[in-house]
Amino acid sequence: MHKPYSETIELAKALIQCPSVTPNDANCQAILAKRLEKLGFSIYSLPFGDVQNLWAIRSSLPGPLFVFAGHTDVVPAGNLNDWATPPFTPSINGEYLYGRGAADMKGSLAAMITATERFIEHFPNSHGSIGFLITSDEEGLAENGTVKVVEYLKNQGIKINYCIVGEPTARDQAGDTIKNGRRGSLNGILKILGKQGHVAYPEKADNPIHRALLPLNELSHHVWDQGNEFFPPTTFQIANINAGTGATNVIPAALECQFNFRFNTEVTPEILIEKIKNLLQPYGLQYALNYTVSGYPFLTEPGVLLSACTEACEAIVNSTPALSTNGGTSDARFIAPMGTEVVELGPCNATIHCTNESVKISELSSLTKIYERVLQLLLLAKENE
Ligand SMILES: [Zn+2]
Repeated sequence: MHKPYSETIELAKALIQCPSVTPNDANCQAILAKRLEKLGFSIYSLPFGDVQNLWAIRSSLPGPLFVFAGHTDVVPAGNLNDWATPPFTPSINGEYLYGRGAADMKGSLAAMITATERFIEHFPNSHGSIGFLITSDEEGLAENGTVKVVEYLKNQGIKINYCIVGEPTARDQAGDTIKNGRRGSLNGILKILGKQGHVAYPEKADNPIHRALLPLNELSHHVWDQGNEFFPPTTFQIANINAGTGATNVIPAALECQFNFRFNTEVTPEILIEKIKNLLQPYGLQYALNYTVSGYPFLTEPGVLLSACTEACEAIVNSTPALSTNGGTSDARFIAPMGTEVVELGPCNATIHCTNESVKISELSSLTKIYERVLQLLLLAKENE
């Protein structure tokens, strides 16, 4: 007889104990690999640069490949004096487990492992395959993590059919929210050029700050699209404006404006940049415009995976999860382009990246049950192939 999911709590504690500040894995993946190896998984360690990645797979009868994805790295603890208990000493107080990574996302990793253990114990010969794609590079640059493992999988001819990323998505409790997409993110720099001069002789200069005022105002109010069924409208935010030489009597030569778009699936980076150019055109500016896309949007439309996740949440926590696409980017953006149905489903995100990060112990139990139920729904019925 299982004690009520104490295995999940114990494993979460063991992971929190490892000070895996990004991109350091601090031995977390070895702990996970050991558990998976016991279940008959083939283990592949895929380090890139200073990043540790783990790919593990276990196949049974023919069928779809379902993958749990996540990260072992955590953000820095911040000011230690603001922690009631040390960030890398897991501690239970009342209904909560405290520690850096408790919610983002060592609790989820623990739930994935114990759910898989329980599933395989009951159904050692299910249909399909179960995989684990774990990185230590989600909170940092995200250049040597999931994106590289996905490349490796493609080269191996492996295609993930369904994937749950264990990011903390819940508003109040695990199972109340599923993220079935994320907006894209575009960072840009608009440099408006003028001519440097003395403030007392403005006729001999060309003030780029004055030139910038009306067009930047227009950009900040522009409606880029209306959003759609799954996404809110695209947003534009100015993150920084910089000009001036430091002297009070100088008109500067240029103004630099940093901006960010969080964009939905109605537009593309190219469309947004073209729109900026069109909006700037009537102002007759001299400018340079550069941008980088740090993440493309993805969307998993209702289908096999969303049905299974919704059904599992309804069965375990008795409420229908809301679908959401808000928040920052996540590694799901690298997995979706394989043609994978991918969602994020994890615990409450109220304390993530904060001091005294915590996760409710009962949430880890329900999350384990939800993951286990999803495995049953996806891998016990052959027609899901
Ligand atoms: Zn995370």
